[in-house]
Amino acid sequence: MKRLLRGKPSQWAMIWLFFLIAIGGLWYPWLGYLMLAMMLGIPALAYFRSRYWCGNLCPRGAFLDIVLYHFSPHRPYPKLFKKQSFRWAVFSFIMTVFAIRMTLAWGNWVAVGGLFVNMCVVTSIVAILLGVIFNQRAWCAICPMGTLQESLGKLGSGQTKTQKARAKATKLLPPVEGARDR
Ligand code: SF4
Repeated sequence: MKRLLRGKPSQWAMIWLFFLIAIGGLWYPWLGYLMLAMMLGIPALAYFRSRYWCGNLCPRGAFLDIVLYHFSPHRPYPKLFKKQSFRWAVFSFIMTVFAIRMTLAWGNWVAVGGLFVNMCVVTSIVAILLGVIFNQRAWCAICPMGTLQESLGKLGSGQTKTQKARAKATKLLPPVEGARDR
């Protein structure tokens, strides 16, 4: 039973969004804008919490952990998926295709919503295929949003470390002579 009921409470709270967008969006393309809202919010969260979204809130991540887990052979995914160059190549490819299609659909707002739904469906099909071949989270190793979050998280933690180091250095510095008189 414990094995069947996988996933965090936050993932159970979000999983319905995956079905709503990926299936409901086929009949009602406006639902694609929910994906846009998520894509706009994720970078801000990622700067402070890196891939917190992926492990706790992503609707597709929840689907992969809760549902696809039971159909996965749990094999390690190819080492290539770990290479930054490959991950950024996937990012660039998907974003280029997306940008071209967005340019073509621009002005037709139903079509733009449908484009987000389409992107969700296509990448989810790839995620499911990788999940049944390797492991349920294989897609997450190369997902463009995952790659972006990881980089923003590093940037954010780098800034925090620099700020901490500066604050520490300031405390350690001997008081400037005559500083009080200035
Ligand atoms: S890597 Fe992509 S699909 Fe996986 S949890 Fe993160 S945002 Fe969702």
